[in-house]
Amino acid sequence: MIRTSIQAEGLITNADYESDTRASSCSTVLVRMDTKTGQIDFTTHCANSNFSWRQRVNLLEWKTLPEEELEKIKTFQEAKAQFPEIKNMDIEVSCNCPHALYSGSLFNLNVLDADDTTLPRYTNAPAPEVRPPDKNDKERNHILCKHMISVIRNFLLK
Ligand SMILES: [Zn+2]
Repeated sequence: MIRTSIQAEGLITNADYESDTRASSCSTVLVRMDTKTGQIDFTTHCANSNFSWRQRVNLLEWKTLPEEELEKIKTFQEAKAQFPEIKNMDIEVSCNCPHALYSGSLFNLNVLDADDTTLPRYTNAPAPEVRPPDKNDKERNHILCKHMISVIRNFLLK
């Protein structure tokens, strides 16, 4: 699982090419949006592995939208139509797949983002990952799993 806080566009800009390409084998469905909190849940099925994983997106600035307008919103589609600005909100994202653990993402986010505010950060790892992913990510460019890339491309940025 990985949590980051950055705009969706920024996350995609930082996604590595390999994961971005693999995301085309994913099919993502919207499960629900909690329109009180701005929390959105998705399920993504990977055709290659035949596994399904759950993704969660928190719109961090959801509560800054006018309350009387928010009360009318029932679905994610309505939210997007009513508030196009949610595309540009800072988000937290998470996926329950093991990518972050084995791909090098946790190390990359822990080490590489120390001084770089343009990179996303993870906040819920039990301890900072200090073992370099010399085998799985020599280039040190893994950040997002393909499931999350699929969510962002097909729902948040569309
Ligand atoms: Zn994932």
